[in-house]
Formats: sequence, C-alpha cells, structure tokens
Amino acid sequence: MTVNITRKKVVEATIDILKKAETKLPDDVINALNRAEVRESNPVAKAQLKAILQNIKIAKDNSVPICQDTGVLIFYVEIGCDLSLDFNLEDAITEGVRRATETIPLRPNAVHPLTRKNSGDNTGIGLPDIKYELVEGDGLTITVAPKGAGSENMSAIAMLNPTEVVSIKNFILETVLDAGGMPCPPLILGVGIGGTFDKAASLSKSALLSSLDEMNEFEREILHEVNCLGIGPMGLGGSTTALAVHVRTAHCHTASLPIAVNIQCWANRHASITFRGD
Ligand code: SF4
Repeated sequence: MTVNITRKKVVEATIDILKKAETKLPDDVINALNRAEVRESNPVAKAQLKAILQNIKIAKDNSVPICQDTGVLIFYVEIGCDLSLDFNLEDAITEGVRRATETIPLRPNAVHPLTRKNSGDNTGIGLPDIKYELVEGDGLTITVAPKGAGSENMSAIAMLNPTEVVSIKNFILETVLDAGGMPCPPLILGVGIGGTFDKAASLSKSALLSSLDEMNEFEREILHEVNCLGIGPMGLGGSTTALAVHVRTAHCHTASLPIAVNIQCWANRHASITFRGD
C-alpha cells in the first residue's frame, strides 16, 4: 500500500524531531534526574544535578540546544513491509539534517576521518547514520538520537573468552571507572551482549532508546554497583554515577562472547515521529 507520505513531509518531520530532540529531553530522563537530585546527600553532587536540571529548563524555555555538542545524528527508521514510497527516504532525511543544521542551528560536527575537513552541514560519508528495520504494516517511524562525542568516545567493546560470563559485570564496571568524569555523568549505559562484534555494538547503542523507568533485576543490580563507584555527577563524587542500565542480548557463536558498553551522558536526547496509513 502506498500511503500519503511525501518527500516534503519527511524532510519537515526530520527537522521537527531534530529540533525536539536537541532542545527538550524526554520526560523519563528529566524524572530520573529529579529523583536523583532529591536522593543525593552529597552537596556537590546535588548542586551539579540542580545545574543540569536548570540547563534543561533554560534550553526548553528558549528553544535552544541542551548542549553545545549537538552530536552526530543517528536515525532509527522502522518501515512497514506494506509501505511503498515514491522517493528516496535516505535522501529526504539527509536533506532534513542539512536544513536543521542551518535553522536550529546545530554545530557542524561531521568531518572526514583522515583529512578532518568539516562538511559544514552534519552530513558526509555514512552520516547521518541511518539504521533500517522492517516491521509489520504500512507505517513509517523515524527516531533521531543525537550522540555527543564526550560519551561516545568512552564506550568500549571486547570479545571475552566464552567461559568468562562472570566477567561481564566487571567489564561494564571497568569501562565506567576508566571513563570517570569524561562522559559527563550521570550516565545511561547501553549494554550489548552476544551476537557478533558489530551486533553487540549495535545492540548497546539501540538499548539507549529504552525507557529509563523500565529495568529488570539484572540491570538494577549493575546500576547499583555502578553507583557504588562514587564517580558522581560530572565526576565530582556522589552516589549518582548512572541513571539507568539497559542490557540487550543476542545468541552468539559457541566460541564467542562479545560485549559492548555504549556510554551515554545525561543528555540522552531522542525524539520520534510516526506516519500511519494516510
Ligand atoms: S558528553 Fe553529553 S553533556 Fe557532555 S559535552 Fe558531550 S553531549 Fe554534552
């Protein structure tokens, strides 16, 4: 079925969700920061959380980006199997990125990896990074998740010995400890376990889209241990090193145990739009 989705609508929707993601944090993230601020007994940590919450409010009230690092732009696109489009979707999203960079405005962050030449509009080889998933129906959902370099740079991946299942938690804790204050804690940790080298990395990143209000027992256990590290908000000490941990798993080769930890700072930005039918 062809639904009433035009190139123009996708370009405009891309600009809209980028503006929303860059200027307003999702409610679950704000609620988690508020709860942490109430819970913190360390005065420096409390002050840091207060400053972060004030920063979020100023950005929202003035419709300006929450952070100077407006990130590299990662898109998750769910396309219905019954949907047929008469335009190039990737091209439309890329056009939306170019226009959003100019109008919001966003810091141009995309450079060639070797020459370091900046494209000036947040696009380039492989950017924006668009990940596609086929789903049932005739709808189209586009989610954007801008990712700052400060937290992305501290992420880590390892191919553990398959007998080392007990080392999984240690790898996560060591990754957070090595990162210290660099990724602007409090963090959200996306963990991918299993699959292949690249699958584990991909799972760890998509896990960051999960609601902060939903964690299972294993995730809560890791969160508790991460918060016992005492790194605290902005690395200045306290009991709030992370707000949430989300683990995603995939079956893997019997001789492999890949694990990836994608570190996300408190500015866990994302926004979506769904087109359904006409
Ligand atoms: S790590 Fe996050 S909060 Fe810190 S500078 Fe980067 S985007 Fe901003």
